[in-house]
Amino acid sequence: MTAQVVLATHNPHKVEEFGAIVAATRPDIEVVGYDGPEPVEDGVTFAANALIKARAAAAHTGLPALADDSGICVDVLGGSPGVFSAYWAGHAKDAGANLALLLDQLSDVADPHRSAQFVSTIALVVPGGAEHVVEGVWPGRLARAASGAGGFGYDPAFVPDGQTSGAERTVGEWSAAEKNAASHRARAFVALAPLLATL
Ligand code: IMP
Repeated sequence: MTAQVVLATHNPHKVEEFGAIVAATRPDIEVVGYDGPEPVEDGVTFAANALIKARAAAAHTGLPALADDSGICVDVLGGSPGVFSAYWAGHAKDAGANLALLLDQLSDVADPHRSAQFVSTIALVVPGGAEHVVEGVWPGRLARAASGAGGFGYDPAFVPDGQTSGAERTVGEWSAAEKNAASHRARAFVALAPLLATL
């Protein structure tokens, strides 16, 4: 039997990535998009914002709702941009400007100090029922300059850990399939899968 779950995001990149991750392991779950009202994301943690979005979508649709809140956390910046990742360079939410500002801020920071993590926090809210929050962390570092046209947001400057030395690429240079197998969203999904099984 197919279970429907609504994904509470208006970000088409996330719908695509998340849909692919879910389809790969849980073809019995149909992820449907959400076009209802968007709540104000005024939480100061990824978990708070993910819960705000999932609660709103569950209440609006009556379906179990998933919401991802994510961002990039740079160690030398004390974890920023963090929850401000989408509008680091201003409320225009210009991904190119966000990336350019972050790289400019780090222009004098040497390679050993450029560590960063992508973080994805996913909330699952069942109408009138349980609420769960899981997290996936993808460690790496920021390149000196952006390269590659794949992915979105900060992908062209993020170099994940664990690559062969000398052949390291930014996520902007990875295929969608490579990213979906390794990303912070994929890691959060590993923790989420057993919870989806209870729906
Ligand atoms: P949200 O839509 O409020 O969760 O904001 C997420 C923001 O974090 C995005 O707009 C991107 O700037 C950044 N981000 C999150 N996940 C990724 C990713 O997989 N690649 C690149 N940037 C990401």
